[in-house]
Amino acid sequence: MRWKGDRRSSNVEDRRSSSPVSGKLLGGGGIGMLLLVIFSLLFSGGNVDLGSILEGEGAGGNYDTTIVQQANPTADSETSEFASVVFAHLEDYWTAAFSESGRSYTNPTLVLYSGSVRSACGQASSAIGPFYCPGDQKVYLDLSFADELANQFGASGDFAMAYVIAHEVGHHVQYELGITQQIEKLRQQLSETEFNKYSVRQELQADYFAGSFAKYLTGETYNGQPILEVGDIEEAMYAANQIGDDTLQKQAQGYVVPDSFTHGTSAQRVAWFERGYQYGDFEHGDTFSAANLDL
Ligand SMILES: [Zn+2]
Repeated sequence: MRWKGDRRSSNVEDRRSSSPVSGKLLGGGGIGMLLLVIFSLLFSGGNVDLGSILEGEGAGGNYDTTIVQQANPTADSETSEFASVVFAHLEDYWTAAFSESGRSYTNPTLVLYSGSVRSACGQASSAIGPFYCPGDQKVYLDLSFADELANQFGASGDFAMAYVIAHEVGHHVQYELGITQQIEKLRQQLSETEFNKYSVRQELQADYFAGSFAKYLTGETYNGQPILEVGDIEEAMYAANQIGDDTLQKQAQGYVVPDSFTHGTSAQRVAWFERGYQYGDFEHGDTFSAANLDL
């Protein structure tokens, strides 16, 4: 993907500087006190209950990766610039797409953090991977996930990361469309197994929206050159394949439990991304209609 020097989103909150904690902050004085307050804000939630966060219990966030990653506190300015440029493209795309269908669209915020972060959906550690919180309409991203994607999931290439960001913004699109709110009601009414089916459809729709965004980018240029480069779409599809529930479960426990799927199989995720890439409209992205269930 061509991106260096392209427009960056202004809806980015960089919270990475507040994460590293050194002995110096205990040195007293005004700034020490301030840091202490930040420190306690960051960690007052105590131990994060990974189990409940992963299942999204109570919090209502869309948590997308169930693999524990290594914390990497090193700030990566190139990755942050890349994420910001991708976010700006997503703003352009969704604002136009909503406008064309007579709807208004409010941009989400991208929060870059390192290690641990507080959201309206609760305290989260980077172990849960990138997520969207409907409570504050923010996408939370620890940039070390780019390394994780390459090293643990074998999905390298910048467009693999663009797909992940586009998927999270896809959850915001669902919020803007009122779909998230309907799903949350179902969460209260259905058994876990029944609800997981809706959760899978919600995730596959976010993949469809990521595919729609990729289709849009094929028509965009930067400095007179196409933004997408050879292999970009394949990078995204490979990433979608690597983070399917069946693939993740096989890696983690050696067997697959379909009832526990919350994101869809690798084949489903790739299929819905491809469908978005093919059609790029709202109509074909209805993962909830009976006619589309077998896809
Ligand atoms: Zn998701």
